[in-house]
Amino acid sequence: MTVTWIDISVPIYRGMVHWPDNPAVRIENIQDLSRGDAATVSKLELGAHTGTHMDAPKHFLADGAGLDDMPLDASIGPARVISIAHPQVILPAELEAHRLQAGERVLFHTRNSERCWKNDQFVEDFVYISAAAAQFLVQRQVRTVGIDYLSVGGYVHDAVETHRILLGAGIWLIEGLNLSAVKPGAYELVCLPLRVAGADGAPARAILRPRGQ
Ligand SMILES: [Zn+2]
Repeated sequence: MTVTWIDISVPIYRGMVHWPDNPAVRIENIQDLSRGDAATVSKLELGAHTGTHMDAPKHFLADGAGLDDMPLDASIGPARVISIAHPQVILPAELEAHRLQAGERVLFHTRNSERCWKNDQFVEDFVYISAAAAQFLVQRQVRTVGIDYLSVGGYVHDAVETHRILLGAGIWLIEGLNLSAVKPGAYELVCLPLRVAGADGAPARAILRPRGQ
C-alpha cells in the first residue's frame, strides 16, 4: 500500500516572504565544491518565525515556555483540516458548526493557501483568527491550532490579542502552512519544529496523510 504524505510546509529560500519587521532569509554557500572547496556548506540566516514554523508561549508571554518544552505529541497525531469560507477573518459563528472537541489538533484552510504564497510580497490582508474565535478555541480546549499564513492574529487587528489568548491557554501554534493541496477532513499530522534551545519559535516541516485509508 502506498502511503501518500502531503507536504504542507513552504520551502525556505533567499528572498522569500517574511513578517515585515522580522529578518529576511539569506542563504549563502560559504564553502563550495565549484570553487575548489572540499565540500559545499551553506550558511542560513533567518528569523525564528520564517515560513512554516511554530510559536512557543514565550513568543508573547514573558514567563512562557520555550518551544523545546513542547510535548512531541502536540504536533504529531490525528488532526482535522477545516475549510474557512470567510474571506477576511475566522469568527466563532463559522467555527460553531464544526463541533470542535477537547484535545483536537485543528488546521484552518483559508483562502490564504491559494492566494498568499504565490509571490514573495507580504500580504497584509490575510485571513486570521479573531480574538473572539481564539476565545472560542480556548473554550473548546483544542490542543493545537494551525493557520495557512504567517500569523494566527491579523496584521492590523488582533495580532497580539489572538496570540496571547491561544498561547496563554497552552495551545500550540503552527503558522505558515500551505494547505492548497489539502481537502477538509481527517488526517494524521507530523510537524516537528527544530530543537532550538529556549526558542520563541522555530521553522518546522509539516506533513499530512489522510486517515482511514
Ligand atoms: Zn505567531
